[in-house]
Amino acid sequence: MKMDKAEIRYPMVEMDLVKFRNNVDQAVMRCSKIGISLAGVIKGFTGIPEGARVFADAGCKFIASSRLEQIQRAIDYGVRASYMLIRIPMLSEISEVIRITDISLNSEVAVLKSLNEEALKQDKTHKVILMTDLGDLREGFWDKKELLDAAILVENELSGLELAGIGTNLGCYGSVKATPEKMNELIADAEMIEEAIGRRLDIISGGATSSFPMVINGTMPPRINNLRIGEGIILAKDLKDLYGLDMSFMHQDIFTLKAEVIEVKNKPTYPKGELAFDAFGKAGTYEDRGIRKKALLGIGKVDFAYLDMIYPRDKGAKIIGASSDHLIIDIEDMERKLKVGDIMEFDLSYAAIVFTTNSQNVKIVCK
Ligand SMILES: *Cc1c(COP(=O)(O)O)cnc(C)c1O
Repeated sequence: MKMDKAEIRYPMVEMDLVKFRNNVDQAVMRCSKIGISLAGVIKGFTGIPEGARVFADAGCKFIASSRLEQIQRAIDYGVRASYMLIRIPMLSEISEVIRITDISLNSEVAVLKSLNEEALKQDKTHKVILMTDLGDLREGFWDKKELLDAAILVENELSGLELAGIGTNLGCYGSVKATPEKMNELIADAEMIEEAIGRRLDIISGGATSSFPMVINGTMPPRINNLRIGEGIILAKDLKDLYGLDMSFMHQDIFTLKAEVIEVKNKPTYPKGELAFDAFGKAGTYEDRGIRKKALLGIGKVDFAYLDMIYPRDKGAKIIGASSDHLIIDIEDMERKLKVGDIMEFDLSYAAIVFTTNSQNVKIVCK
C-alpha cells in the first residue's frame, strides 16, 4: 500500500505480505505432502484482511478465526474462501455463524441444535467438527459416550448440519503436548464414530501450531488430515524457541512495530520522592544506575499490554518501563543517536501482535 507522507501515523504495525506468503507456502507445502489441509488462522493478527487473502491465495482450505467480526471483515474485503469458526459458537451469534461461515468447531448439543434450526431457516447446510478434549481441558467433549451420541444426533437427525469430522485442541490451556499418542487417541475417537455412522469422516483436525512439529519431523499419524495454524506461520517463534526446531525456512520478522520518540533526556534511573504505586496500582521496582540517556515513545501498555513482549531492534536499547500511553527506553548504550521525531522499530511476540493489531491507536500498514 502506497502512502503519502502526510498519512503516515505512529504507532504503526507493518505486516510484510511477501514474507508472510513465504511462510504460508512453506506450511501448505509441508502439510499437503502428507495429505494435511490447512485452516489459516487469522485471529493472531486481528484478521487483517490482506493477510486473510494471502492464506486463501496460498491454498489454505479454510480461513479460520475465533471472532466473527474478523471473518466478516475478510468477506467484505473480497476474500473468497471457506470460513471456519474455531471458537465454540455463542448461542447469541448463531444466525451470524450460519450466514457467514461454512464450518464451525462444536462441543455442545444445545448449540448444535440451534445451528441446525438456523441452517434450515437460512436454507443452508452448515458443516460441524465435533471437538474432543484429550486432556488440555479447554473446549471439547470429555465423555466419549456424549461425543458419540452428539455425532449420531448430527448424522441422523440434524438435517441442516453435516458432520464433517472431529478435532482437538492441545497446548492452549493445559499446556498438554501434542504427541503421536494424542493424535492416535483422536483417530480412535474418529473411528468409534465412523463405526457407528457407517462411513468415513472427511476431517480429522489434529490441532494448532503445537501439532505442526509432527509434520516437520515426520511423526504425524497418517489419518490426521487437517491442522489449524496461526502462530506457527505468522511468527514461527514458539516452535524455534520452545520446541527447539529449525525454523529457518520461515521468516520470524513479518511484523514490525514502529513508534515515535517524543522526548530524549538524561535522567536518573531511580525515582525521586516517596514511592507509592505506579499507573496500574503496582509498587514498582527500580534499580539505581545513575543518570542515563532515556527516550520516551508515544505508545504504551494500552497497545501492547506486556513490556517483555516487544523487542527493540536497535542494539543497546533497553526497555525499562511503560505506562498506558508511554514507553521508556534506556538509550545510553545505543549506537544510533536518537532525537525527538525519530522512529524506533520493534520485533513482536505473538501476544504483542495480537494486542497491537487489536489496538485502535495503532495503524496497520501492509507492504
Ligand atoms: C487459536 C486456535 C488455533 C490456532 O492456534 P495457533 O497456536 O495460533 O496455531 C487453532 N485452533 C483453535 C481452536 C484455536 O482456538
